[in-house]
Amino acid sequence: MISITDLRASYGPLPVLFGFDLNVARGETLALIGANGAGKTTTFAVMTGRLKPQTGSVSINGRDIAGLTTIDIVVHGLALVPEGRQLFPSLSVEENLLVGAHSRRSGGWNIERVYEIFPTVAEFRNRPSMALSGGQQQLVAIGRALMSNPDVLLCDELSLGLSPAAVDIVYSALQKLRGEGLTTVIVEQDIARALSASDRFACMRHGQIVLSGASKSADRAEISNAYFGMR
Ligand code: ATP
Repeated sequence: MISITDLRASYGPLPVLFGFDLNVARGETLALIGANGAGKTTTFAVMTGRLKPQTGSVSINGRDIAGLTTIDIVVHGLALVPEGRQLFPSLSVEENLLVGAHSRRSGGWNIERVYEIFPTVAEFRNRPSMALSGGQQQLVAIGRALMSNPDVLLCDELSLGLSPAAVDIVYSALQKLRGEGLTTVIVEQDIARALSASDRFACMRHGQIVLSGASKSADRAEISNAYFGMR
């Protein structure tokens, strides 16, 4: 479903991604892990059209999206839940969801389905989003991304700044989406959480993927070595 080949990118003269391949199969949840500055968010920035790659390709359903505008990429089936949620605080929950329908593709996901799968979001639909707890806001941010009816959902640091109870709520929501067969890539600092929420993991360091494998059988010591560069 997603195929990344020899991806290289830089911020001005500063190279950040040094050429790596990554594949995500349909229906799979992949956890992209790695220490601060490893290049996870930059990878998402290239995938969502906010940063043009120097070389390499990013394809979704066999179509190369590298270098397209963000709106065109959404139309090709990719949606992002950004770090920090980035909701419009004074708009209602429902209005925030409708923002996500701006570049809507036809098909499965719509506001009724978001309300059905996330009843808490439905309950607070008329409240300003800033009146919700952090965990509830994260559900709205996920719902907003679903409103474009994506084939692939990218989730950047869903648990950042949330209480442990809120993180549980957000990850059980993600579990529901897994059950629905949605293809998902999550960036998550908490390695244990990332592994339990995914089918496969890929560990980045210094702009490359240094280890990948099945999450279930992942060797924690091997991951720590890859994560911190101790090998
Ligand atoms: P984090 O968990 O801290 O977000 P990350 O793995 O997502 O880490 P990136 O944010 O992709 O890492 O950063 C990769 C490298 O690119 C870092 O060295 C970072 O300092 C640098 N970087 C990120 N954004 C910019 C930018 N806008 N301009 C210049 N350098 C940047």
